[in-house]
Amino acid sequence: MLTFVHETLGQRVLFGTGAAAANLASEVARLGAKRVMMIASDFETEMARMVAADIEVALWHHDVMMHVPIETAEKARVAAAEQGIDLLVCVGGGSTTGLAKAVAMTSRLPIIAVPTTYAGSEATNVWGLTEASRKTTGVDAAVLPVTIIYDAALTLSLPVDLSVASGLNGMAHCIDSMWGPRVDPINAALGAEGIRALSQGLPLITGDPSGTEGREQALYGAYLSAVAFTSAGSGLHHKLCHVLGGTFNLPHAQTHATVLPYVLAFNAPYAPEAEARIAAAFGTAKALTGLQELRKRLDAPKALADYGFTADGIAKAVSIVLPAVPASNPRPVATENLTRLLQAALTGEDPAVLLD
Ligand code: NAD
Repeated sequence: MLTFVHETLGQRVLFGTGAAAANLASEVARLGAKRVMMIASDFETEMARMVAADIEVALWHHDVMMHVPIETAEKARVAAAEQGIDLLVCVGGGSTTGLAKAVAMTSRLPIIAVPTTYAGSEATNVWGLTEASRKTTGVDAAVLPVTIIYDAALTLSLPVDLSVASGLNGMAHCIDSMWGPRVDPINAALGAEGIRALSQGLPLITGDPSGTEGREQALYGAYLSAVAFTSAGSGLHHKLCHVLGGTFNLPHAQTHATVLPYVLAFNAPYAPEAEARIAAAFGTAKALTGLQELRKRLDAPKALADYGFTADGIAKAVSIVLPAVPASNPRPVATENLTRLLQAALTGEDPAVLLD
């Protein structure tokens, strides 16, 4: 019997290399916005100025921080209110999109997101804020951007190592959604297509970083990954990575890229259907083989120790993650096996040690 409840989130997606400025101008006109706030970090500002070339901007906001500290959110909220803003446009990575979401949370202003990484935040209704070094996330329809403008030309400047880490962050959305609390046949199909697109696009990027073909595939895969993830809900992988990012301040994309094979190895033997689907999307006999072959080709991040995590953080991480692990996780999670997972991820041990 096939029984499920699936909710599709409504967004307009405009996809076209070199078309971001024209697409933004037509969307601003379509929405009838008069007071646009452009959000972009200092680094992203040059790209954002090109994207905003054909619109009038009421306010530029550059104070963007990773994981959206509450103080940073408050400053942006006050700035938007003081300037009578009626539309938020964010140009940048997940941190910049995250700040626009933090403003939308309280102001209910619409967002047009122009992503420049493969983080995928633009296609979710999930917000994240960090307060007193604890990251909290939540769901709110108001933070879902009304429009996404994808332009692969904007990702050309993303260095190869960051492209790989960010693309594997998208891959993590796809894989973790396979055992998310609301996994269903629709989001699983989107996640599988995301795995296929990312696994084809990322090697094209490492092979030809200045070409747009791989970058287009990666952006398309990143979008699918986020749609699948927001529909299926956060699984074990995301619960772990949110703690590693929020409490230990580890870099987001690299942390996801490193932890993913460990969570896959940990869960795969307990989730045969998901395992088979992931393997088929990679075109390999086993899911872990597909992921690891791709990671090898991409020279992907390997050990959490390389990003500042240390053995004395494991017990604290486990204690915070454990109560948050969704009941849908296929493998029962306890202090001992979660500790083992993090020990292996810390040093870059072969994830196959976690296959039971
Ligand atoms: P990021 O936004 O912090 O960007 C990483 C770095 O890359 C920054 O220095 C940025 O300026 C730079 N950068 C961005 N675009 C670039 C480009 N085209 N060329 C060169 N450099 C560029 O990192 P991220 O990985 O994109 O996003 C991570 C954040 O997004 C985290 O806070 C994470 O929690 C959040 N996130 C949220 C969701 C959600 O659904 N709410 C989903 C995914 C990620």
